[in-house]
Amino acid sequence: FLAVGLFVIGSVEAQTKVENNISLDKKVESLLKKMTLEEKVGQLNQYNGFWDVTGPTPKEGLAAKKYDDLKKGLVGSMLNVKGVKDVRALQKIAVEQTRLGIPLLFGFDVIHGYKTISPIPLAESASWDLEAIRKSAEMAAEEAAAVGINWTFAPMVDISRDARWGRVMEGVGEDPYLGSRIAEARVKGFQGDLSSNKNILACAKHFAGYGFAESGKDYNTVDVGESTLQNVIFPPFKASSDAGVRTFMNSFNELNGIPATANSYLQRQILKGDWKFQGFVVSDWGSMQEMKAHGYAKDDKHAAELAINAGSDMDMESNGYVDYLAQLVREGKVKESTVDDAVRRVLKVKFELGLFDNPYKYCDETRELATVGKPEFHKEVLDMAKKSIVLLKNNNNLLPLKKSGQKIALIGALANDKTSPLGNWRIAADDNTAVSVLEGLQSYKENQLTYAKGADVALGNPKFIFETKINTADKSGFEEAITAAKSADVVILVLGEHGLQSGEGRSRADLGLPGVQQELLEAVYKVNSNIVLVLNNGRPLAIPWAEEHIPAIVEAWQLGTQSGNAIAQVLYGDYNPSGKLPMTFPRNVAQVPIYYNYKSTGRPVMNEPESVFWSHYIDEKNTPLYPFGFGLSYSKFEYSDLKLSSASFSKNGNIEVSVSVKNIGKVIGKEVVQLYIRDLIGSVTRPVLELKGFEMIVIKPGEEKKVTFVISEKTIEFFTANSKWEAEAGDFKVFIGGNSVETLKGDFQFLK
Ligand code: BGC
Repeated sequence: FLAVGLFVIGSVEAQTKVENNISLDKKVESLLKKMTLEEKVGQLNQYNGFWDVTGPTPKEGLAAKKYDDLKKGLVGSMLNVKGVKDVRALQKIAVEQTRLGIPLLFGFDVIHGYKTISPIPLAESASWDLEAIRKSAEMAAEEAAAVGINWTFAPMVDISRDARWGRVMEGVGEDPYLGSRIAEARVKGFQGDLSSNKNILACAKHFAGYGFAESGKDYNTVDVGESTLQNVIFPPFKASSDAGVRTFMNSFNELNGIPATANSYLQRQILKGDWKFQGFVVSDWGSMQEMKAHGYAKDDKHAAELAINAGSDMDMESNGYVDYLAQLVREGKVKESTVDDAVRRVLKVKFELGLFDNPYKYCDETRELATVGKPEFHKEVLDMAKKSIVLLKNNNNLLPLKKSGQKIALIGALANDKTSPLGNWRIAADDNTAVSVLEGLQSYKENQLTYAKGADVALGNPKFIFETKINTADKSGFEEAITAAKSADVVILVLGEHGLQSGEGRSRADLGLPGVQQELLEAVYKVNSNIVLVLNNGRPLAIPWAEEHIPAIVEAWQLGTQSGNAIAQVLYGDYNPSGKLPMTFPRNVAQVPIYYNYKSTGRPVMNEPESVFWSHYIDEKNTPLYPFGFGLSYSKFEYSDLKLSSASFSKNGNIEVSVSVKNIGKVIGKEVVQLYIRDLIGSVTRPVLELKGFEMIVIKPGEEKKVTFVISEKTIEFFTANSKWEAEAGDFKVFIGGNSVETLKGDFQFLK
């Protein structure tokens, strides 16, 4: 009876959805009919904000042109405008002074918070806590919405296997499955219910391949085959699309010879064709213009033609559409129906957001004042920050620290830094607004705390650090640090990267500790080896010496506004860490790209001890420093009893696989139980391991919990040699564990 009831409700809902869509489409059509070609093009034009730079009525130069265009209805969206006052003023021009009064979209990079900063996305990904990640995006949306923003250029869902690439800090890590779940969580968090003025549009970016830049150098050439595209790069984008993301951003890179911005395979065939994406695609900043330098477009006009024909709907700051698109239509180089399709998509999103009913939906000064930086947000970002921390090593239970009677030496410039923990992409947050580690530790008053800087991380204006300027050789602070360490019971060294050493344009060729920090670490170690190394960084680091010598290592990334409090609570055991790495840490930068779901070669292992003819280095191990999925806890978990419900399953069936996890430690803890499979033989070679599920459990000391996963056809599907997603019959292995290396194993078959 209940099932029937639900079915009826379900069908009524579906029916209403269809009707809404019809009426939405009708509204879009009727507006489109009224538009001139120029007005249509205007909807596809996005300008960077000029308002707060040049004042309310800019008289000269580009800003004046943009202002005029706005009044003529030649602007569909603006980015980087913030604050209700400015948003309202610009929206008023669009709505009241243009012929058709079509409201603007206001885009902004709300990447990990607006003013109240959450951990960088890579750190959040280390929590594997999808609900916390969703909430973090929801909070960011609420804060941004309160200042007038209605569209964020997030989430970035580019899979990357290359820690040299600075933008890994913005991403979901190296795994398509984890990345897909996180992408969904973020899309849902930002967009929630778009009729609410607390939610904003999300944007899945950068479509596609951006994270596979050759040699990890930002913007570099991307050359990857279809199997990697489909099986590794696309899944988080597909998941975003399925989760209802309304916009996509294309990318700066070329993909297999065609710039992503003019890539119709990506935008027309895959996104709008195969995936039936109904929203619109915005170009990346100036990426149309950049096609000239790629050697793909002759000039800006040609670039505009290539981009629109390939399905790039809105032009971010190339000025190609506003300057040439109408002309291209008149010359017959672009069909008006192509422009119409793009405009329909943009208008539809504006209707869905409710901007035609209330263009000032996001413009409430009272709400702005009450919302930005409110205490609840601080509680949320603290919670997220603690969940993002990964305990990498803890010999002799050095951690958690004793709460009293201890002399603690705190060393490192990052320990006293209130800006770096904010990381990159925190445009609206002011410098010096994060809680430092020093401040966090100071609230534990029963211990004696001494601080010494030791050495700077980097030189130069922290707003813009370029490779040539980053390193400092100044060791004048070493002595003070060594003195402090000598008389301490425990040394806490906070080392890593400046907040602006990762992010866009911040590729690194060296993945060690920048500057003289490694020397500082070794110098301190000589006088006191009882060290807790706290890492602050935006990417995996290669720190083999530390792994070999330092007893306790805590990966604390860049944790945002509440960074120092989160770190202190973990160090003192008021929070038991549960994070797991979303990206492999190499031993050596030369191992990069290094990732857990690699393919086996024909020579995977050394069969004769003296043979050199296997896939390896003669001067470095093959194994990573820390594998994907790895992270310790103050509890200890023991896995046992892996059981499969049967040895095989066939079409439409499934198998259950279960495992028991016991907490054999002394404190309550959280564990992320991970399910991996290996498809032994495929029509396209398969990775040695693929994450296919995970579950987070909380277990009390002595308690044992059973975790069950269901493996179905969906679990084992991949993009096969038939060029489609399907399950192939064959033999599989299943692995369950607390990371991608230490697992229990089983076997099953899929019979077709
Ligand atoms: C970045 C995008 C970003 C855009 C707007 C570009 O440089 O690649 O990720 O959304 O700028 O700020």
